[in-house]
Amino acid sequence: MSTLVLAEHNGQQLHNEVRHAVSAAQHWGQPVHLLVVGYQSEQIAKQAATVDGVTEVLHANAPQFEHPLAEDVSKLIDTLVTDYEVVMAAHTSFSRNVLPRVAAVAGVAMISDVLAIHPDNRYVRAIYAGNVHTTVQSRDAKQILTVRGSKFTAAELNGQAEITAVSVPEPFTKTRWISESRIESDRPALNSAKVVVSGGRSLGSAEKFDALLNPLAEKLGAALGATRAAVDAGYAPNEIQVGQTGVTVAPELYFAVGVSGAVQHTAGMKDSRIVVAINQDPDAPIFQVADYGLVADLFDAVPSLTNALS
Ligand code: FAD
Repeated sequence: MSTLVLAEHNGQQLHNEVRHAVSAAQHWGQPVHLLVVGYQSEQIAKQAATVDGVTEVLHANAPQFEHPLAEDVSKLIDTLVTDYEVVMAAHTSFSRNVLPRVAAVAGVAMISDVLAIHPDNRYVRAIYAGNVHTTVQSRDAKQILTVRGSKFTAAELNGQAEITAVSVPEPFTKTRWISESRIESDRPALNSAKVVVSGGRSLGSAEKFDALLNPLAEKLGAALGATRAAVDAGYAPNEIQVGQTGVTVAPELYFAVGVSGAVQHTAGMKDSRIVVAINQDPDAPIFQVADYGLVADLFDAVPSLTNALS
């Protein structure tokens, strides 16, 4: 039996998390196949073939995959699943939509957001907004899971896997792709950025959020993040919400600016290597997870810090 990893990409490039998922997939010590779904996506399949540890790339190339919908991708995986003991992907919004459907059709458990994989199909997962780690075991014949990329090293890019075309089932007609709204930015993607600058509700408005945090993020080459309170207040777009119901990040450096440090926020950033917090309340919970804390008014501290950076 083999392990199947669903590869995500943006039409031009494989997402970084795929390499982390491939390295997690080595746990079972069996051949690892990478599934690339797309349209006119030969280039992506070639990139996928270079990921170390991948023995074969399955390439599903069809017009319905120009904008892949979970309905079509899960239908495709349903046709492949009998050949695999393990089907997995990095824990992203897309795979969270696809793989539970596959698990339901296969009649097995879906194991999401795995932090570590142990022998006998035991998995470490975070519960209670990341405050407790639990170990679960699946005795199902087939394992279907998503893994948190930051917990596994990235596979290198020295591979030379075979690429095999797979046949694609008829498109699912009850759902169709209409449009997509993407934020185009020169900045690094939030979930793979080495530095993240996040702001909270205390920024006070969308204009101040941008005016204060953008220059700092620019100087640090950082991605911008936000708390849910800042997103709900309309200061920042939903896509950059960090936390339990947002994106999980684990950068080298995380700046929390005017962020209280609610557990639902820290659940999405506490794996960051170094956390710097600026908050005017010395008792703010964010200081419990911060390596460096500055008790100050952010409207003074952030411009000073930005100016001090060359
Ligand atoms: P606040 O709690 O209002 O904190 C503002 C902070 O800014 C305070 O600590 C204050 O001291 C400080 N401050 C104020 N003025 C200044 C100043 N001038 N200078 C410096 N510091 C200042 N939240 C998330 O972030 N992500 C999630 O994914 C998420 N998911 C949730 C899921 C559920 C089911 C629930 C119930 C909640 C969730 N939340 C999430 C919300 C979370 O509980 C908090 O409400 C939210 O994180 C608070 O955001 P905040 O820190 O911006 O705001």
